[in-house]
Amino acid sequence: MPYLVREHLFIGNIGDAAEILQNGSEEVTHILSVLSSASISFFSEWRSGLTIPTKEIRKVYVGGSESEDDLGDSPNNALSPKKLLYSLEHAGKDLKLVRMAVPLRDMESEDLLDYLDVCLDFIDESRKEGSILVHCFAGVSRSAAIITAYLMRTEHLSQEDALESLRQSCEFVCPNDGFLEQLKMLEAMGFKVDRANPIYKRFRLKVLGDIYNRGERIDGSKFGADPGLPTEEVSSEVGASLNKGTISNPAYRCKKCRRVVALQENVVDHVPGEGETSFDWYKRRSGNPFSKADEIECSSIFIEPLRWMTTVEEGALEGKLSCAHCEARLGYFNWSGIQCSCGSWITPAFQLHKSRVDISTV
Ligand SMILES: [Zn+2]
Ligand SMILES: [Zn+2]
Repeated sequence: MPYLVREHLFIGNIGDAAEILQNGSEEVTHILSVLSSASISFFSEWRSGLTIPTKEIRKVYVGGSESEDDLGDSPNNALSPKKLLYSLEHAGKDLKLVRMAVPLRDMESEDLLDYLDVCLDFIDESRKEGSILVHCFAGVSRSAAIITAYLMRTEHLSQEDALESLRQSCEFVCPNDGFLEQLKMLEAMGFKVDRANPIYKRFRLKVLGDIYNRGERIDGSKFGADPGLPTEEVSSEVGASLNKGTISNPAYRCKKCRRVVALQENVVDHVPGEGETSFDWYKRRSGNPFSKADEIECSSIFIEPLRWMTTVEEGALEGKLSCAHCEARLGYFNWSGIQCSCGSWITPAFQLHKSRVDISTV
């Protein structure tokens, strides 16, 4: 039996979802399935003989044009393009239910953050129209993580308080540690997935690092746009002149040839002097973690991987970063990390020496 969490909001396992899809429900009108596959065939594989009718409403891919949310055309998310974000379909008895399915495995390294916006919005909409069951396989980790995020966002609760509140309804919920860490990030970003936030940028780098460590090919499509390409520079200049005097977009240029190699928005900030142990850094609770930035001078800046870094695409663990125009040595990259002069470890690291670049406005 599903557990009631809030009015019109239930949590359950795959058995609860199958029961409602097969026989209908007087109460539940919407289902959010969070399983390793978004396909309804997952249910027949789980219990042979079970077939559930569906009629597709839409499938939305990361970067796909069908998407109406900002994830669609933004290069700044950790998912790679062409990956399914979600599918939406009429499902179950008489096709009366609306089912959103999100492909997510229950693994600590799994990227929960990038699915949260669509999931939480769907829960909101469903509760206005009827009642929703959020389910995963066991009803313990994935569905609990998503409902915890939902309670955090709608009730402005900390991760701990939201989870504790959920446990009042369903005492055995237990999101995996990777999900809990991402929910902490959600809290630190003000209950929204803010892709400009340094916390998100660090997360994105770590996801890329995980892809590299799994031995998957890293290609330029996963990198940020090259801010030094003429077309993009022109469009930046147009943008700047349209907003005359109000926008200054700091850019890093190769000291030797003046080519733009990074924009301020590509920079992944770190706290000077802080030792890095992957995700542990955000656990510091006192004030703004970046407020000490001026106290210790760092000799390097660290940026996200950009499309001009062709040496990175060759697949080596580490290597030089050279200017795409004059080939001057600008810095170094290392998937296992580089220590900044301030003592902080950045992992993975794409480093520009401050002595090799100038900062100016585009
Ligand atoms: Zn530093
Ligand atoms: Zn150069």
